[in-house]
Amino acid sequence: MIKLSDSPADIEKAADILKSGRLVAFPTETVYGLGADAFNTFALARVFEVKGRPRFDPLIIHIANLDALERIACIDGFDSQRRKQLNLLIDSFWPGPLTLVLPKRREVPDLATAGLPTAAVRFPSHPIARNLITLSTGAVAAPSANPFGRLSPSRAEHIIDTLGNSIDCIIDGGPCSVGVESTVLELLPVPRLLRLGGISMEQLELLIGPVEKNNAELECGPVKKEQFAAPSPGMLQSHYAPQTPLFLHSQKAMTVLPYNEKEGYLFFSAKNRESWNCRTIAGQLPDNNKPQTILTLSEEGNTTEAAANLFEYLHILDKSGVTCIHAETLPEEGIGAAVNDRLRRASVIH
Ligand code: AMP
Ligand code: MG
Repeated sequence: MIKLSDSPADIEKAADILKSGRLVAFPTETVYGLGADAFNTFALARVFEVKGRPRFDPLIIHIANLDALERIACIDGFDSQRRKQLNLLIDSFWPGPLTLVLPKRREVPDLATAGLPTAAVRFPSHPIARNLITLSTGAVAAPSANPFGRLSPSRAEHIIDTLGNSIDCIIDGGPCSVGVESTVLELLPVPRLLRLGGISMEQLELLIGPVEKNNAELECGPVKKEQFAAPSPGMLQSHYAPQTPLFLHSQKAMTVLPYNEKEGYLFFSAKNRESWNCRTIAGQLPDNNKPQTILTLSEEGNTTEAAANLFEYLHILDKSGVTCIHAETLPEEGIGAAVNDRLRRASVIH
């Protein structure tokens, strides 16, 4: 595995690796992706193999200009209202953390879409991602660069630790700015949210009107039940999980949790952390030499900052050797709802 920088010469090298059918991990504004040429079935197969990802879990195809959308999606069947909604979404949120699920072109390999008649497409805003896509094949299938079901990587080091031996190249672009994955939105037959993410439900509804909420945990996809666990496998009940058991608490419940030095604590804000009655069952205060096990996602209580830190702090707690992680929920608004969604799926009790 070679590690490359964000220099133009290195991005060109990485693009050549992608063009030759090999895999490149690269930064996007959401999390790091594990990229493969979207039209090369051998490369796609390797993505599933390396991640241990089930074949029923389709990939997001990343593009870097709107012309590429036509190679992947076919919107001939859209009526004027859907067309208008699609244009509004593209104008407002692309490039950015919104993935659109659209009817696919026949040429898109079934492996990329898990046999579904639709393809998920995203136009990332991260300059490295955009340059890499443009210099390679223009359409790069990229799931998050983590073993299936585990925490998503928000730094290159997270990938070196887990997939380092099985991929060809990593571009180190520093930490990701959004920190949670993209929002996944299906447009037909009606707009429906398949995964909460970097664009909030409020932002979507303000722009295109009512969006159906997902009850994906209960429903099954458009194809056979036994093949598809959920319409969008990002909605699998257990996902984005650290190896250490995670318990999710309300903000109020977290304030009265007894302190145990073998356990980890993840607070939303400094205010919430300070309102915690941080005592052991016997009434003792914690040892100040163990600060790495009590973390705060955003000192100021800013949900955007909290989202950007989420996976990194979960990685730190996961590696710290604690026996379990206690996390508190964020205010359920804007990107806070996406963070809560990831915490719920990462937790042992749903
Ligand atoms: P990730 O593996 O983190 O890149 O997540 C990709 C997400 O997009 C998963 O939740 C997929 O299930 C979802 N997705 C990709 N393609 C489709 C599709 N055609 N229909 C519904 N969801 C999709
Ligand atoms: Mg993923």
